[in-house]
Amino acid sequence: MTFSSIPGLEEIKSKLTSSVGSNHIAHALLFAGKDGALNLPLALAFAQYLHCTNKNENDACGTCAACSKSLKYIHPDTHFVFPLGNVSNDKDEDRFRAEILKTWRSFLIEQPFGNLAQWMASYEGEDKQALIAREESRKIVQTLSLKPFESTNKVMIIWLPELMHSSAANGILKILEEPPPQTFFLLVTNGVEQLLPTILSRTQIVHVPMLNDSEVENYLAKNFSLTVEQQNEIIQIAEGDLNFAIQLTDAEEDHHQQRFIDWMRSCFKKDNIKLLSLADEFHELDKLAQRNLFHYALGMIREVLIQISEANKISRIKGAEEKFVKDFSKVITLPKIENFNRLINEATYHLERNGSAKMIFMDLSLQLSKTINP
Ligand SMILES: [Zn+2]
Repeated sequence: MTFSSIPGLEEIKSKLTSSVGSNHIAHALLFAGKDGALNLPLALAFAQYLHCTNKNENDACGTCAACSKSLKYIHPDTHFVFPLGNVSNDKDEDRFRAEILKTWRSFLIEQPFGNLAQWMASYEGEDKQALIAREESRKIVQTLSLKPFESTNKVMIIWLPELMHSSAANGILKILEEPPPQTFFLLVTNGVEQLLPTILSRTQIVHVPMLNDSEVENYLAKNFSLTVEQQNEIIQIAEGDLNFAIQLTDAEEDHHQQRFIDWMRSCFKKDNIKLLSLADEFHELDKLAQRNLFHYALGMIREVLIQISEANKISRIKGAEEKFVKDFSKVITLPKIENFNRLINEATYHLERNGSAKMIFMDLSLQLSKTINP
C-alpha cells in the first residue's frame, strides 16, 4: 500500500515520511482510530515506505523490488499479528499458519479498507470471537530476534492489539520498550481506551480521524460511476467511513431516498394500507439495507433539525432531499424530533436483535405517524 492510494490524511502522511527523512522514527507507533478510520492502511503504507529502496520524500516508489513485495504483503521483513476467531485443531500448526497468512494477504489486497467483521468473514470465522492468542507474544519475540532478511528494517504490524490475550500483551512489554535495533512496531487499534496503560506508555500515538465528506466524495468520484444523488446519499450515510461508503455503492439500488420520502409521507397521511405494503417491502430487504434505511432516516432527521435551528451552514443536502427537509421541517417540532430519534434508535436495536423486520417497521411507522401528526 502506498500513501498515495490512501485518500486524505495528508498531515499524518507527511509527519510519518518526514520522521524517516530526519531519522527520528519512533520505535513503536500506535495508529489509533475508530472502526472505519484508515489506520491499518496507513501502517501498511508506512511499512512499505520504510522498506522502499527508492523512496522520495512523500511516498514509496511502488516499483522497486522491496515495494513489489510490500504490495503483495510478502516482504520478509514485514511481520503481521492479527486476531483470529478459531484456534486451529489442525495438528500441523505450520501449515495452518501458512494458510491463514495467505488468506490475510488476499484480504489486504481485495479489501484494502476492510474491517474486523470483513476479515472474520473472509475465512469463515464470523461466528467466533476474535482474539490474538496467548502464544503470539513468544512468536513476536522470536521473530524479532532474527536479523532482517532483505531490508535494513524490521516491521512488526499488530492489528487490533486490544484483542490480545492479556498474557500475550504482557509478554511483549519488554520488547516493546527496548526493541532490537532497526525494529519498528506499528500497532493499529480501534479501541485505544481498551489498551493496557503499559502498552500506551510505550508507544507514540498517531490519532487517525475519519475522512471528511469531501475526501470520501473525491474517492467515490474517482472510483465509481454514481449519480450525484447516489453519491450524496452515500456520503451522508457513511459519515467518513470509507469502507462503509464502498459497501454502500453495492447497496445503492436500495434507493433509500425514495423509500424514506414515501414512508414519511404515508406516516403523515396515516395511510395504513400503504404503510403495510412498505412494511412488506422492508421485510424483503437484506439486513444491511434495513439498517441503512434507519441510518439514513436518522441522518435526514438531523438535517431537519439543522433546518429548524436555521444552522444552514452545516447542512450537506441537495436536490429532492433538500425539498423534503424544507417541507418536513414545517410540520415537526424539536420535541417531536427527539421522539423520532428515540423511536428509530429503539427500532434499530430490536432489528439488530433479530426481531421480525415487518413487525418492527409497522410498529415504528404507527408511532411515527402519531408523532408527526398527532
Ligand atoms: Zn520502492
